[in-house]
Amino acid sequence: MILFYKKSELTYHIHDLKKRDKSIGFVPTMGALHQGHLSLVEQARNENDLVVASIFVNPTQFDNQEDLLKYPKTLESDLNLLKESGCHLVFIPAVEEMYTEQVAAKHFDFGGIEFEMEGKFRTGHFDGVATIVNELFKIVRPTIAYFGEKDFQQLQIITKLVELEELPIIIKGCPIFREKDGLAMSSRNLRLTDEQRKVAPFVYSILTKAKEKFKTQNIEKITEWVENQFNNHSLLDLEYFLIADENSLKPSIHKEISKNYRAFIAVYAGKIRLIDNINLSL
Ligand code: AMP
Repeated sequence: MILFYKKSELTYHIHDLKKRDKSIGFVPTMGALHQGHLSLVEQARNENDLVVASIFVNPTQFDNQEDLLKYPKTLESDLNLLKESGCHLVFIPAVEEMYTEQVAAKHFDFGGIEFEMEGKFRTGHFDGVATIVNELFKIVRPTIAYFGEKDFQQLQIITKLVELEELPIIIKGCPIFREKDGLAMSSRNLRLTDEQRKVAPFVYSILTKAKEKFKTQNIEKITEWVENQFNNHSLLDLEYFLIADENSLKPSIHKEISKNYRAFIAVYAGKIRLIDNINLSL
C-alpha cells in the first residue's frame, strides 16, 4: 500500500495507471475507519483493478467547530485496516494541500436537495462536501466512486455533482453497515459515553418500527408517533424525523405508488449527532 501526501505526486501516479488502462475504485473518508468504511473498500476492490482511499477531515463541511476539533483521529489503525482490506493507494493530504489559498467552500447549485435535512440543519455543509469531493475526483480520476447510504443525502448530492461537472465517474451507493444491536456504524460513535452508547440503538429500532407502520399508516401519523417516542427520552434528543422520496428528498405528506420512500432521522446524544435512514419501499 502506497501513501501519498501531495496532490502532485498522486496525480503523477494516477496518470501512469490511466495510461495502463487500470480501473480505479475510490473511497473518500474522514478516517476513524470502521467496518462500514471497509465494506466500501471491499466492494471497490471487487469491481476495480486498484483501490484508492483518502483520509481527510474537511474543515469546510463542519458547521460546528467543536465537532471538527473533536473528530476522532486514528491514523495508524486506519492504515492497518486499509492495508488488510486490500487498498492499494491512500491519499492523506494536509488542509493546506487541499485549500491552497483560503479554507473556504465553493458554492454549488444542486437544484434544491442541498437545502433539505442535513442542509437545513448544517448550514453550508454540502458546499463543503462538494468542494472537497470535486477536488479529490479531479486528482484521483476514479472509474467508480463509492459512498455509503448512511449519508444518503450526500450520495444524492455527489451523484448530482458528477452530472454538473460532467465528470466521467460512476457513483455507487453502498448499504448501511450496522453494529449487532442495529446502531449504524459511524466514526462519531467513538465519542459516545457508555450510557449514550447503550441507548443509541433506539434510533434504528424507531426506524424499523416506522417502516412497519408505513405499510398501513399515513405519514403524518407515523411522524407524530416518532416524535412522541423521543419526547420522553432522557438521553436522546430528536432533531428531525421525516419521510421523503429518494429523488427530491423533500418531506412527503402523501404516499405515491410510483415513488421510493425513505425515513430519515437525526438525533443528539449529548453533543454527539447521530444520523440514520431506512428504505421504506423494500
Ligand atoms: P466518513 O468518513 O464519515 O466521511 O464516511 C466515508 C464514507 O463511508 C461515506 O461515503 C459514508 O457514507 C460511508 N459510511 C460511513 N458509515 C457507514 C456505514 N455505517 N455503512 C456504510 N457506509 C458508511
